[in-house]
Amino acid sequence: MFHKKIFFLSLNTFLFISALLLDGCGSGENHVPAFDEKLAWSLCEKATSMIPRHSGTPEAKRQAEFIARTASDFGADVEIDTFKTITPVGELEFNNVIARIQGKSEQYLIIGCHYDAKKLFTSKPFYAANDGASGVGVLLAMIKAIADAPVKPYYSLRFVFFDGEECFYEYGENDGLFGSKYYCAKLKASGDLRRCRAVIIADMVGDKDLGITLSPDTPREMSELCFAVADKLGYRKYFSWNKFNIIDDHTPFMQAGVPAIDLIDFQYGQNNFYWHTIQDTLDKMSPESLKTVGKIILKMIYTIK
Ligand SMILES: [Zn+2]
Repeated sequence: MFHKKIFFLSLNTFLFISALLLDGCGSGENHVPAFDEKLAWSLCEKATSMIPRHSGTPEAKRQAEFIARTASDFGADVEIDTFKTITPVGELEFNNVIARIQGKSEQYLIIGCHYDAKKLFTSKPFYAANDGASGVGVLLAMIKAIADAPVKPYYSLRFVFFDGEECFYEYGENDGLFGSKYYCAKLKASGDLRRCRAVIIADMVGDKDLGITLSPDTPREMSELCFAVADKLGYRKYFSWNKFNIIDDHTPFMQAGVPAIDLIDFQYGQNNFYWHTIQDTLDKMSPESLKTVGKIILKMIYTIK
């Protein structure tokens, strides 16, 4: 009996080692953790409830604190990176939230979203449920999934919740992408950007009628990775090319030479009608869409070489 048990143990060990070898480094795509869309949805709901949360408002700050607390409870190392900058509406305080999970390598991936909402010139409530909160729900649920996973990914991870993605008037040198520009410049100045392997951004990923469109200027290795992973998961139909290049939080990193991809659904309602309007509410969204994007990014994280 005793010998038999040892035999079984050895067989298990053998199978385990074989799986590792097949995987290459033992942190590959066979170890992708499950994504909890109920959790993602409830966090998205919570993020949505804080309004108005355009940059510089007390609710934006409260949202940063909520994200930091939640990511920390889930097991990430979290910091709130506060900075001030001049904007077209005067000097404002911004708060990026950075949640780290250590992988096997000192090289890292940035998984980003923005949590600020567009400043609308209306007195009606603007929830920015898709354009802001959807990414927050997906990223926080991914942090929980990976922090709880027995096998960590090869690359270390920095989940960055950018403040100030939205511009006040028009994207340009001094308007919009405040958080990502700041963080990218900071990493560049410290030399830390050299260890950044790739950037993956999720923005507007909750639409019930999901259709992620990649920017035509997406680096080929990133679009190929995304399409290959989507194929494997049976989600290829949700991905296509956008006609025009897209400006988003991936842009500063791409300009700095880091491979970056923006997963964005830029067809939110007929003719993008719900985008940047008070129509951007949770009833247009589904947990299923959050799950699709969450699973895609998790698999990209565990697959990227
Ligand atoms: Zn927006």
